[in-house]
Amino acid sequence: PSSGYEVALRKLYRGITELGYYTHAELKNALKQAKEASANTLVDRLSSLQSGILEHKQSLFKFLSQVREEDGYDQWREQESQDLSDLIYRRIQFLQNPKDCKRAKKLVCNLNKGCGFGCQLHHAVYCFLVAYGTQRTLILKSKGWRYHKGGWEEIFKPVSDTCLSSEGDSLANWPGKPDTQVLTLPIIDSLLPPRSQFLPPAVPADIAPRLARIHGQPITWWVGQFLKYLLRPQPIITELLLNTQNKLGFKGPIVGVHIRRTDKVGTEAAFHPLDEYMPAVAEWFDQQISNGKIIDKRRIFLASDDPKVIAEARSKYSEYEILGDPDIAKTAAIGSRYSDRSLYGIIVDIHFLSRCDFLVCTFSSQVCRVAYEIMQSLHVDASASFRSLDDIYYYGGQNAHSWRAAQSHFAQKAEEIDLKIGDPVSVAGNHWDGFSRGRNLRTNLQGLFPSFKVEDRVEAVKFPTYPEVPL
Ligand code: GDP
Repeated sequence: PSSGYEVALRKLYRGITELGYYTHAELKNALKQAKEASANTLVDRLSSLQSGILEHKQSLFKFLSQVREEDGYDQWREQESQDLSDLIYRRIQFLQNPKDCKRAKKLVCNLNKGCGFGCQLHHAVYCFLVAYGTQRTLILKSKGWRYHKGGWEEIFKPVSDTCLSSEGDSLANWPGKPDTQVLTLPIIDSLLPPRSQFLPPAVPADIAPRLARIHGQPITWWVGQFLKYLLRPQPIITELLLNTQNKLGFKGPIVGVHIRRTDKVGTEAAFHPLDEYMPAVAEWFDQQISNGKIIDKRRIFLASDDPKVIAEARSKYSEYEILGDPDIAKTAAIGSRYSDRSLYGIIVDIHFLSRCDFLVCTFSSQVCRVAYEIMQSLHVDASASFRSLDDIYYYGGQNAHSWRAAQSHFAQKAEEIDLKIGDPVSVAGNHWDGFSRGRNLRTNLQGLFPSFKVEDRVEAVKFPTYPEVPL
């Protein structure tokens, strides 16, 4: 298939999704006004319009999934995705297992960033991306790790089979000099300009065109490959995951719901009641049924740091089979968060969230973003398999990134901004009502614009191409 064809299919999917958000939000407001004015006939008409549009949307999605199924390219997509993934895996292995560790160039990364597990994984991936970009073997220092004093290697496979020592002839802090043997990288938040061109959302130019053809958001695929390598489990974790799988009876089709509460609420994110998550879950199942899939049971995997949520879901949503363990949620309490039990809990929760068919969560939480990234390493393209109640996807500390206006826009209201085709737009967020907020970098004006009028760009950057590794 041509790249244009694959991209056009994804644009159609996104277009219908945005049309859905827009009409749903507009009709909700109109209904509210009609009810306040006691305009009963209008209320009836708007309600039937609302359900009519929903049905239209469902059938459009169904046709779109038929186009994909019927086009005959699925085998090609699978193969291409596998080939790319294998290539990157071999390159990482090459980088991480130098013949002579004593002389290898190294990048030292201290795992123990003062934050949660998802945030620490992102810290490790950031180090890994810079290591890959600078062709330095990543040395992950983790003794005394706040989640497990014995260190990373007791939980996950070491990041190298041949080279774990951070020793070398010359040592310096990042950025050092190109010939310094061992460089220590600070946390991403402390990088001084010019930082590094290898930070997200950069993807390697040598694979970017292939990636952009098979995947809707190449950066999440790229990050996913490093998570896949990092999270290769030690036997104790393999066993834990298998036991949990059996205990839960985990199987698809299943929607993953992550509800982040406790210390996050009111500081870094707003409170969202369970009832805000569930309509997106119901909509996903309804769509599957409309697509002709057989749903034996509406199953969800529910993870949270608030144990009460699981009980609430079981009592309020009895039509669902709710997999989840309130005892795991209890281990996430802030007072006991940095312990083995808590570590096992979050490993289990992220693992099963990433194995779901669709995720409903808040992307402000690194737990859900990590699960979403891992998900990308398990499917050809799961970039559209989520509903976030707040942020759009981003990588904490990422380099500046702009989208592009694909259609012009003339502001209709005071809070809107104009767009001309081709304008670079820095997107701050999607309001999931048809509109996004951002800054037009040509006019430097900030405000709202219709989400469907801008499209994301792939940030292709020259990385080393590892010619030693066969294609
Ligand atoms: P963020 O704060 O939500 O962006 O994500 P972090 O991973 O950086 O920190 C949150 C930490 O809280 C996690 O690493 C866990 O230790 C705990 N936590 C949050 N949500 C869950 C959950 O759903 N399940 C479990 N087991 N722990 C959680």
